[in-house]
Amino acid sequence: MTAESTPAWNVFKQIFAEHWAGFKRLYPRYDQRYYDSLVDKMLGCGNPDQMGYLEYRCLHCGEGTHRVAMSCKLSLCLRCAKVYVDHWVSQVSQMLHAGVIYRHIVLTMPAMLRPTFYQQAKALLSPFMRCGVRCLDDCFSRVSGRALKGGYIMVIQTHGRNGQYNPHLHCIATSGGWDQQAQQWVHLEYVPYPMLRKKWQWYLLTMLRQTLKTRESSRLVDACYTRYREGFVTNVQKGDVPSRYQSLATYLAKYVVSPPISLRRIDRYDGQRVTYHYRSHKSERVERETVTVYAFIGRMVQHVFPKGFQRVRYYGVQATKTFTKIKGLIQKALAQVKGIIQEAIKIIVPLTYRQRYQQTSGRDPLRCPHCQREMGVWRLWHPTYGLIHDELRAIAGGKYTSQASRADPAAKPGRTVWPAARGIPLPLSRLQ
Ligand SMILES: [Zn+2]
Ligand SMILES: [Zn+2]
Repeated sequence: MTAESTPAWNVFKQIFAEHWAGFKRLYPRYDQRYYDSLVDKMLGCGNPDQMGYLEYRCLHCGEGTHRVAMSCKLSLCLRCAKVYVDHWVSQVSQMLHAGVIYRHIVLTMPAMLRPTFYQQAKALLSPFMRCGVRCLDDCFSRVSGRALKGGYIMVIQTHGRNGQYNPHLHCIATSGGWDQQAQQWVHLEYVPYPMLRKKWQWYLLTMLRQTLKTRESSRLVDACYTRYREGFVTNVQKGDVPSRYQSLATYLAKYVVSPPISLRRIDRYDGQRVTYHYRSHKSERVERETVTVYAFIGRMVQHVFPKGFQRVRYYGVQATKTFTKIKGLIQKALAQVKGIIQEAIKIIVPLTYRQRYQQTSGRDPLRCPHCQREMGVWRLWHPTYGLIHDELRAIAGGKYTSQASRADPAAKPGRTVWPAARGIPLPLSRLQ
């Protein structure tokens, strides 16, 4: 999109172009049409011949033109990461409700489980998300002594800040749950850590045992119980998250959807090794790392989810229909709670291509530089389907004839240059 060819983007592409084949030989698991097509798409990102394009043209004076090459919109692509994040923020924002208190809870797994998740991603990732939900419902019910159903937005993340495989769940959980029997919303002031840790361990390991059903996984589960007697690491963000952040979704996006390595962070590439830097969660400092190209490519592709995998999911009362039904009751109940969040959570609408371009270049791409009026879509070209829209053909076919004959063209400034079917007052040489 607006990220034009920056040096880092060119380096990123070069690394994949030069070493993707070698990488696949080394890791045959990636030697699949699915991955090839993703890499192809990413390499073609922003190339009009490969991805197609949308061409704008001033329909008033015929002078101004602007061409937008399509982007790949893949999470693998560093060029598209920003668009991907914006889209994500907007999607999640729409699911947050004013007046409801949410908590941000992180559920992790110990290092010894990660290789299993890596190898069995397809089988394990969905059950992983579901068992996070069951664990929290169980905790809420235990604390309140009533059977509660909370509302959850679950986001799965598979990498740590340094780009290494480390699957964990970010849950945006309501601060309590719905008691179906009493038809009441029950607010919980806190979730006790030790209980959450132990329960999370139990739910995760039980899921693992039941899903994999191998002797090896059983041994792994047993070893986890022995080694981690206090349960697994869970993290509850202190306080009521939205009150401190204008937008919970924006805040979350930083943790959740930013790519493992950002475009600005590639410092050096010598054909064999890549140096990049990142901000470490643990030390809160900028760490620098040099890895082989294969390790680099591995870190990028290991975060690609299986085909069709949905990484943000909504559960419990947060699932759209249910929530609308009981939202009023939740808000009423929460209004009694001390320290309730008064301000509504800001809903963020994703920027359009035009706004994004304007933001980075300070210029409206769709305003004609000659007459200052807004340009219209002139041509839409797709590499598979060819020319999808061709304004010139539409005009030749008589698109504007009826309008021109109905009214005095001079009275309709938007149409004056297209008075009739035959005469098109445009320098045709410019259209090629
Ligand atoms: Zn892209
Ligand atoms: Zn113009």
